[in-house]
Amino acid sequence: MRADGPRHGRPLRPAVFFDRDGVINADLGYVGDPSRFVLLPGAAAGVRAASAAGALTFLVTNQSGVARGFYTEDDVAALHRHMAGLLAGEGAHFDDMRTCPHLPDAPLAAYRRDCACRKPGPGMIVDLMAAWPVDPARSAMIGDKPSDVAAARAAGIRGLLYTGGPLEAAVARALAGEG
Ligand SMILES: [Mg+2]
Ligand SMILES: [Zn+2]
Repeated sequence: MRADGPRHGRPLRPAVFFDRDGVINADLGYVGDPSRFVLLPGAAAGVRAASAAGALTFLVTNQSGVARGFYTEDDVAALHRHMAGLLAGEGAHFDDMRTCPHLPDAPLAAYRRDCACRKPGPGMIVDLMAAWPVDPARSAMIGDKPSDVAAARAAGIRGLLYTGGPLEAAVARALAGEG
């Protein structure tokens, strides 16, 4: 990181790290194209609420479908542009996103890696915290699997297990210091 980089000299902010499948969109299994991307009711409101509270908003998603050859990294990027459009239509946005396309025993050799970014590894969260002015003490990850919570704790932030219902309520808990 450069000393004059974007993080330098700015006040630290709370951040909410959102898992994708099962939190933002319905987890239909290896969602790789817009036809199978179903925004969950309340997802946009949850992301919007985090921004309105002054938090940075990040998407942190494992996409081993890339390593399995179900879809490509370009497909994921296109899907995330589609997602951003849906969210923007409801006044919500992610400040940044990270995707892990790897898998230790991947069929595709290019993605066969025991990486640090695949949750429960902390790599994607750590990377975002290096790139943005994040206050770890006021930040949390919201995910629907224990691996999301484990990734958060490994990165030094809180982790909240999302079990359904209004995402906005989970965001409020995250920013109130729970988890
Ligand atoms: Mg999930
Ligand atoms: Zn990875």
